[in-house]
Amino acid sequence: MTGLSEEVRPNKAFGWAAIDTSGVLSPFKFSTRGTGEKDVAFKVLYCGICHSDLHMIKNDWGTSIYPLVPGHEVVGEVTEVGSKVQKLKVGDRVGVGCMVGSCHSCDNCTNNLENYCPEMIFTYGAKYYDGTVTYGGYSNTMVVDEHFVVGIPENLPLDAAAPLLCAGITVYSPLRFYGLDKPGLHVGVVGLGGLGHLAVKFAKAMGTKVTVISTSPSKQKEALENLGADSFLVSREQDQLRAAIGTFDGIVDTVSAQHPLLPLLGLLKSHGKLVVLGIPEKPLELPAFPLIQGRKLLGGSMIGGMKETQEMIDFAAEHGIKADTEVIAMDYVNAAMDRLLKGDVKYRFVIDIGNTLKSIS
Ligand SMILES: [Zn+2]
Ligand SMILES: [Zn+2]
Repeated sequence: MTGLSEEVRPNKAFGWAAIDTSGVLSPFKFSTRGTGEKDVAFKVLYCGICHSDLHMIKNDWGTSIYPLVPGHEVVGEVTEVGSKVQKLKVGDRVGVGCMVGSCHSCDNCTNNLENYCPEMIFTYGAKYYDGTVTYGGYSNTMVVDEHFVVGIPENLPLDAAAPLLCAGITVYSPLRFYGLDKPGLHVGVVGLGGLGHLAVKFAKAMGTKVTVISTSPSKQKEALENLGADSFLVSREQDQLRAAIGTFDGIVDTVSAQHPLLPLLGLLKSHGKLVVLGIPEKPLELPAFPLIQGRKLLGGSMIGGMKETQEMIDFAAEHGIKADTEVIAMDYVNAAMDRLLKGDVKYRFVIDIGNTLKSIS
């Protein structure tokens, strides 16, 4: 529902939108607000395709508002800044992740945890303060409050940086918060997709020993040789599981499909931590015995605050961490969504918005 407020906004914009629950994306014209005094306007150059985009275009979570312009792994170049913008200027390389607003006054906001603010505003498909619907990065331009824009260092290629804005911070924040960032610790990464491959890279850069835990033995070579993991555990092989019992300080679980927690809890040392990052459709089954034996912790985590998002981007630039991407043209997006549904991508589709999004007359 674009509504009246949509029509009176000053800046013309265009992108691709899903118009109903079929989820099929097609060219779409809209408008954005003018650049307010604390706003940054930027030309979108690349946008990652997150798995949640796939859920949102089909209204899998029941919250979608159509037309829906997805995209919350957005990078680009600043074209205009408001008079009170302090940290960014025209020409800067910038990124926007999953959120574009929060209350700035609750306990979470005052502790740099805007991601947990009850009034946090998602980058797309949400109501903004002015009553308009937010549109994401599958579009030529965005206007965003400076507070929710991060700077991207020169040495980080923009296409490989885009997926860091959602997938990257989603794995970086729990590694830091749960203390799984110390050299010598043994960290497990369950699932080797968009999140998992970045978890391996960040955990390695933090100095930990990383084991990928996967149901697919076919991913072993890739995990060890291309991503730099130290070892690989096939979670369906009982012998391998048994041999690894009690050897992990922490495990980050990126899998959204239904799966048992029992074997993972068994892999932890005493005081080990299992961190859930995926969102399975049904509640997970939590057996208490393996949790109380060894005083283990089960935790969760969702993206990260803005201060930590900038810290993650700077850490990635410093350590040469890039997402492995398949860069695609805008008009390939529907085919990419079909492939993403089958898990057929290594490891993130990134849309080359700057070169392939055609304007609509
Ligand atoms: Zn995402
Ligand atoms: Zn707040």
